[in-house]
Amino acid sequence: MERLGGEPSREIKIFENFLKFLEICCQHLGYTKPIRFCYYYFTHEGDNNMNSIERVVATLSHKEADRVPAYPLVNSVSREALGITYEEWTKDWKKCADAIIKTTEELELDCISTLVDLSVEAADFGQKLLYFEDKAACPDHHDRLIKDVEDYATLKAVDPRKTTRMSEHIEMAKYLVEKKGKEVPIVGFVFGPLGILGMLRGQEDLFVDMLTDPEELHPALKEITKTLKDFCGALIDAGVHAIMFDTLFASASIMSESMWQEFEGEYIQELSEYVHSRDCMVMLHNCGQSAYFEAQIERMNPILISFLHVPFGCSSYAEAKEKFGDKVTLMGAIDPGWLMTATDEQVAEKSKEMIDIFAKGGGFVLATGCEYPACLNFDKARIMVETAKTYGKYNK
Ligand SMILES: [Zn+2]
Repeated sequence: MERLGGEPSREIKIFENFLKFLEICCQHLGYTKPIRFCYYYFTHEGDNNMNSIERVVATLSHKEADRVPAYPLVNSVSREALGITYEEWTKDWKKCADAIIKTTEELELDCISTLVDLSVEAADFGQKLLYFEDKAACPDHHDRLIKDVEDYATLKAVDPRKTTRMSEHIEMAKYLVEKKGKEVPIVGFVFGPLGILGMLRGQEDLFVDMLTDPEELHPALKEITKTLKDFCGALIDAGVHAIMFDTLFASASIMSESMWQEFEGEYIQELSEYVHSRDCMVMLHNCGQSAYFEAQIERMNPILISFLHVPFGCSSYAEAKEKFGDKVTLMGAIDPGWLMTATDEQVAEKSKEMIDIFAKGGGFVLATGCEYPACLNFDKARIMVETAKTYGKYNK
């Protein structure tokens, strides 16, 4: 765009930014229509004092923002902001959302994820859950919904807008979008089909069935996928900016790549294609050791991967940055388990180390590799954010 001299007006600057962003959308993201982020980008100005949406958009576009965004996956620990129990936080979506909002504001987090626990979907298929005061709800291991191989065929899709936990999750997403969606990206968290089946059957039995009766699993996986498509659709209708799939089993520490491809590949691809078709971004979370980045990128075309360990086929984080850094935004990778015993100084040092490895050229969010420990206070998260704000500044 040619200029006749002098500083461009605010409107021209905004318009130029908008054009730049549209171009990036087409090149990097593969979207044919401008995604909803454009609106926010268009209506916000300023390179040096970005809000979280602007910061994350620049980062996802592989541009250096004002600084590295930070999101230490602070979810269930947010209950402490309201002084409520884990069970109350899980069962009352409004309190859950208010706790997340309060914590996001207090800690100045750059992202909000709707992760509550991994049983949201399983519960609505009829799996009995156990709730606790101080840890995540989980399936009753003595009372699985799928008790033997024949039961896979009985699993049928449900309507997530009508079932208890998913419908509440949708309401929560809507509320979070209304309250914070103009400043902070809201990411809908959805457990992958195979992970859900594991909740309904129990992982050990599931693994045995995969070997002995593989064909029995597919009808159930199809019904789950049908349900998840509706769930994603409802979350997108609620206004989330992205859907993050947790592909728990797509790592070498859990199963071979061909096994993952056989049991989840086509289903997660179908879901990802659906999310893309709705002009919503696909992200994935996988905290397994040696996660299959390449296979998942091919199946899902994610814009961001939230991860903990060095991916499959890489020998270091630096190699991961080199290999995947221009394809996806990397989000990680401080070990939440390690955080529990680390000193404040060590957390700051580790955050700096991550920034040194991953931040160059954008495409990096400083985060924990999985959920922030539910039993910690906010101090370590605060240190991570502070380090991103100071040490993570671009153009220092
Ligand atoms: Zn995880």
